[in-house]
Amino acid sequence: MGGFFGAVSQQDVTLDLFFGVDYHSHLGTRRGGMILHDAQDGFQRQIHNIENTPFRTKFEGDLPSFHGTSGIGCISDTDPQPLLVRSHLGLYAITTVGIINNAEALIAQYFSRQGHQFMAMSSGKVNSTELAAALINREGDLVSGILRAQELIDGSLTLLILTQQGEIIAARDKLGRLPVLVGQKAGGRCVSFESFAYHKLGYQDSYELGPREIVRLTPDGVETLSPPGRQMRICAFLWTYYGYPNSNYEGVNVEVMRYRNGAIMARQEAARGELPQVDFVAGVPDSGVPHAIGYANQSGRPFARPFVKYTPTWPRSFMPANQEVRNQVAKMKQIPVPDLIEGKRLLFVDDSIVRGTQLRETVDFLYERGAKEVHIRSACPPIMYGCKYLNFSRSNSDLELLARRTVQELEGDEGQNHLEEYADASTQRGQCLLRSICDGLHFSSLGYQSLDGLLESIGIDPDRVCTYCWNGRE
Ligand code: SF4
Repeated sequence: MGGFFGAVSQQDVTLDLFFGVDYHSHLGTRRGGMILHDAQDGFQRQIHNIENTPFRTKFEGDLPSFHGTSGIGCISDTDPQPLLVRSHLGLYAITTVGIINNAEALIAQYFSRQGHQFMAMSSGKVNSTELAAALINREGDLVSGILRAQELIDGSLTLLILTQQGEIIAARDKLGRLPVLVGQKAGGRCVSFESFAYHKLGYQDSYELGPREIVRLTPDGVETLSPPGRQMRICAFLWTYYGYPNSNYEGVNVEVMRYRNGAIMARQEAARGELPQVDFVAGVPDSGVPHAIGYANQSGRPFARPFVKYTPTWPRSFMPANQEVRNQVAKMKQIPVPDLIEGKRLLFVDDSIVRGTQLRETVDFLYERGAKEVHIRSACPPIMYGCKYLNFSRSNSDLELLARRTVQELEGDEGQNHLEEYADASTQRGQCLLRSICDGLHFSSLGYQSLDGLLESIGIDPDRVCTYCWNGRE
């Protein structure tokens, strides 16, 4: 995934940028970068590997040498950035979030039109931010270049540019898959993926970019350079899974949405007479917890935390390359509370079920610890399609997805023609999928949030929300 933050002010913005970027650390684990601009000294930039050490620790040592009245930074789950680019459009820094599915075709096209080289990374691939910059530089100005690049890219492109004049240009993806918000305080403006990041730094909400909109930020204000488009498909997973609880997107708070989502699941189950008798409702940490609170409050079943993650010495960014060690780390993080597990009937809510591997391990762990029943609820419908719009690296092939794999096991290739039915628990095929997953993973019962329930809990016009993961709707 990835996230970004930028600030421009009459004062120095180094600390705002440092903390603002750091507050996006939950969105990526690979690279962090900051670049500042000062009228006298120009640009200063640093990029660090944050795979095993958090952003703040890595950049603390750089702070004394940084200064500037404007800057942009990122947490990147892909390539190193921000990049500093010199072209006929001037010298500028750029950071991007999104995915370019047709990168190889665009590179070939670039070479065929007198473009001769890109810097290659050790994998031989071209840095996707450099490719985006190359596409932008083909036009006569930054705004036309950004719009053209967004048209050419299959995937999505959201970006920040810091110009030689110390202004920030922010562009939201053409269908607004991700949010871009502007904050303001006296003598300064900032731009951010997460709204809580600037609230903590003393900025007030100022503006939320529409899809495809491009704005310029100066210390005095925000100016629209290219107007928003009509169509939007903001990612529903922002609310269900990866957005931070304190953030708002399109005016809808993440934590509050999750309570509402859990409550709707419980309400729908109660209406069908399917609410199980359990001793505790719990959430799979971290993002399953608020969905579980909503479910518990609505169902009247008590909320509890039968296991708690040990986080102080296991930062989220600790990602050993070896899968066996990763599994071991995942287990070491889960510390049970035996009194809340032994002999108990538990209902766990998870934010989603993707491959099912981790959930299977969690459930086995609970049975090993003496749980009597383990019921599972997914806060969103069965995931049938991998994301092709964001670098949302949760699956490489659709058949890695638990629901798709189970459909294949149940009915072979023919089953892939009936995904809509399989995703709907009120159909025979939907029931079959539920039973099969439930048996395979040893759940006492299984329930998925319905797509209507999910959209109700988000609460904005359903046509403006991306639901591709669940129904394949483009
Ligand atoms: S496909 Fe899924 S993860 Fe990707 S943008 Fe749409 S809802 Fe989000």
